[in-house]
Amino acid sequence: MSTTAQHVATIADLDPASGELLAEIPCASTMEVHAAVARARAAQRSWAELGVEARAAALSRFGERLAADAPSLGETVTREMGKTLRSAVGEVKGYASGVSAEAQEVVEALAPITYGDGASGGGANNVTTVHEPLGVVAAITPWNFPVGMPLSIITPALVAGNAVVFKPSEHTPLTGARLAELLQAELPEGVLELVQGDGTTGAALVEAEVDMVGFVGSRATGQRIMNAAAGSLKRLVLELGGKDPLVVFEDADLGAAARCAVEHSLRNTGQVCCSIERVYVADAIAEEFEAEVVRLAGEWTHGDGREDGVKMGPLVSEGQRAKVVAQVRAAVEEGANLRVGGVQPDGPGWFYPATVLTGVEQGHRITHEETFGPVVAVTRFDGSEDEGVRFANDTVYGLGANVWTGDPARGVRVAARLRAGQVGVNRYLGGASGSPWVGARQSGFGHLGGPDGHRQFTVPKTISIGR
Ligand code: NAD
Repeated sequence: MSTTAQHVATIADLDPASGELLAEIPCASTMEVHAAVARARAAQRSWAELGVEARAAALSRFGERLAADAPSLGETVTREMGKTLRSAVGEVKGYASGVSAEAQEVVEALAPITYGDGASGGGANNVTTVHEPLGVVAAITPWNFPVGMPLSIITPALVAGNAVVFKPSEHTPLTGARLAELLQAELPEGVLELVQGDGTTGAALVEAEVDMVGFVGSRATGQRIMNAAAGSLKRLVLELGGKDPLVVFEDADLGAAARCAVEHSLRNTGQVCCSIERVYVADAIAEEFEAEVVRLAGEWTHGDGREDGVKMGPLVSEGQRAKVVAQVRAAVEEGANLRVGGVQPDGPGWFYPATVLTGVEQGHRITHEETFGPVVAVTRFDGSEDEGVRFANDTVYGLGANVWTGDPARGVRVAARLRAGQVGVNRYLGGASGSPWVGARQSGFGHLGGPDGHRQFTVPKTISIGR
């Protein structure tokens, strides 16, 4: 953030592939944040009175606008945060095609509940629980999926009848602005307000008169938000960081496990909350597995995400790259072997190559801190279920976990012992339409998706009617 001669704070939006200044965006002041919240508050009641079906229909129409905008918005995403154009356009299209179905899931989750004789004590159907909107929801989101993460909060919040004040990441303000514009085209004025800025603006929004904070971002920021929200007991949904393990047993399909480990350590230049950040391989197959990981990672080219054939773009910022460089250096100093990459390239942009570390030991710094970079970190274990599970669970995080084994019963046993919100057995993490996205332990507070996730954007009210 910089301050201009007029003392207006701004964010500098930089292209991570070149360092070029794309835009300088004024940050909303605390007064402007309060004004945005007041406008949202004024608009919320009539939005709620429209009814859940009409609100869902508005979101579906927005989904169509978003789909039509995918080529152009995808390019903005790549310019601002560096991911390959293919995956940026894919992100926009994927979320555009899912909005309508998710809006419908919210409608179903919020259907009134009526109770029978026993519950009311006064005859059938005279007691009903409805789900009322909370009021104004702050949506504060990161840059790594700058279309998907905002929508994961904004869609359920709006369909539930809330107004939203949206603060996109300071690394993706143009993407955030376009997303807001597309939403506003289908919403009454004030129902979706945009405020731009960095953490200072985010903190001002949390302190403002909002009823709920829906946040996706790092664990450290989640902790700050929880502290700040305590004074007025604001409702919270926090989706936070991870340190996901992948455990490979001796009887696993070694090739498939290695492909999963590499793909999901390097995808989006490793900047995915549920990246594989730790790979545990049984001693008996470690040599062969590591050789395959090294071979596969060598195929991961990096470069400007707009160029054909590039598999990874740059890291989002200089600071993010410095963090990855420091973690890899610390791992090597602690005794890990650098097998591929690990050398920061010269020249403009915040590039960093696909990197493989083997000989990482439990307790090395890199096994505990979220890396958020293109690093496959491999640790050997004795091959027992006890040690595999112990190493995998040795973290404060609990977002995802993966297990590879040729024995289905072992897969189920180990999945039950892994402390994570989602577990993939002989596959990467997956879900079904309507299943929740959960950060267990310190990877989250509350969760998104599924009927219970959607209902967090409401407060239940039970109405009993006498005869
Ligand atoms: P971040 O926590 O630095 O920032 C996230 C957002 O919070 C930004 O908009 C930022 O401006 C704002 N912010 C910063 N300080 C604030 C404060 N004190 N009060 C209010 N808002 C504040 O995270 P990031 O670097 O943008 O994103 C990367 C992190 O997000 C990683 O840890 C990643 O694992 C996590 N993430 C989690 C999920 C999930 O579903 N669990 C999904 C995507 C990303």
